[in-house]
Amino acid sequence: MLTGSIRGRWHLVTRIGQGGFGEIYIAHDRQTEQPVAIKFEKKSCQKEALKFEIEVLSQLQSSIFFPNFICSGCSKDFNYLVMDLHGPNLSSVRRHHRKRCFSITTTAKIGIEMILSIKEIHKIGFIHRDIKPSNFVLHRETTIKKLISKKKTKNDNLPTICLLDFGLARRYLDEERNLLQSRGKVGFRGTTRYASLNSHLGIDLSRRDDIWSLLYLLVEFLKGELPWSQIKDRQLIFELKKKFNSVSLVKGLSIQFAKFYEYVQTLKFEDSIDYDYLISLLQKAVKEGKYERDSSMDWDKS
Ligand code: ADP
Repeated sequence: MLTGSIRGRWHLVTRIGQGGFGEIYIAHDRQTEQPVAIKFEKKSCQKEALKFEIEVLSQLQSSIFFPNFICSGCSKDFNYLVMDLHGPNLSSVRRHHRKRCFSITTTAKIGIEMILSIKEIHKIGFIHRDIKPSNFVLHRETTIKKLISKKKTKNDNLPTICLLDFGLARRYLDEERNLLQSRGKVGFRGTTRYASLNSHLGIDLSRRDDIWSLLYLLVEFLKGELPWSQIKDRQLIFELKKKFNSVSLVKGLSIQFAKFYEYVQTLKFEDSIDYDYLISLLQKAVKEGKYERDSSMDWDKS
């Protein structure tokens, strides 16, 4: 556990996250009197993914779906990234929710924002490669106010979620925006529960795989679990993902999710994504559902 302050400005308060290569802290900014989030990475860590993460995040600053970059630097033992502090991640929000799953209205609303955030990262030439609920956090009132004051969004277009963690991101376009060829066989990348079959098979990942992970995430939000939620063994999870097809995985959900599955299944390595089509499926799923008078988010309901 780290203590003290960074550059005499950010006083570390508490640790809120821990990953394979680093830790996330809440800190108090003595200059602005606002809380911030600081991501630390040990300098001894071979890959030094944080430098790359900072490069990607810097390119996403005009979008409302990514954290505001404040500064980066290094101390004797760590590289660090200071950014705006957001709310809880969606894995924790779901697990703490009374029903442990979300309504179709809430799932579709955040699902549409997730598609838009993935579209933004694809637009700048990267794939995320680790789309999962804990990499999406809720906006806080203060980050929303900042977006409005920086004229990034209007009051009637306020985002709910923000996409984090570009440590596993990878370029799929070169500097001239040409598609990079598949590298053939590669190692597993991502998080086992949400990884696409391609990732299990060691096939180089592309835009389609971010969408596969999103589909698994949406099914988990609606059902409260995936057929492989209780399983740790990667091979067994792979077998279950193969077994559960467009009919069985989305059984009991709107037909639009079967269409979502069938669309993703048609995507080849080099294909671009029809984001508008996927958004339209989520919109249809809401319209088809029982009329819900209360359109507020599930976690805001009493
Ligand atoms: P790692 O790459 O080590 O997994 P992440 O960037 O995914 O680190 O962050 C881990 C967790 O820390 C996230 O799931 C989220 O709960 C929390 N977190 C990270 N950045 C922020 C932030 N800017 N605001 C609020 N919480 C954050």
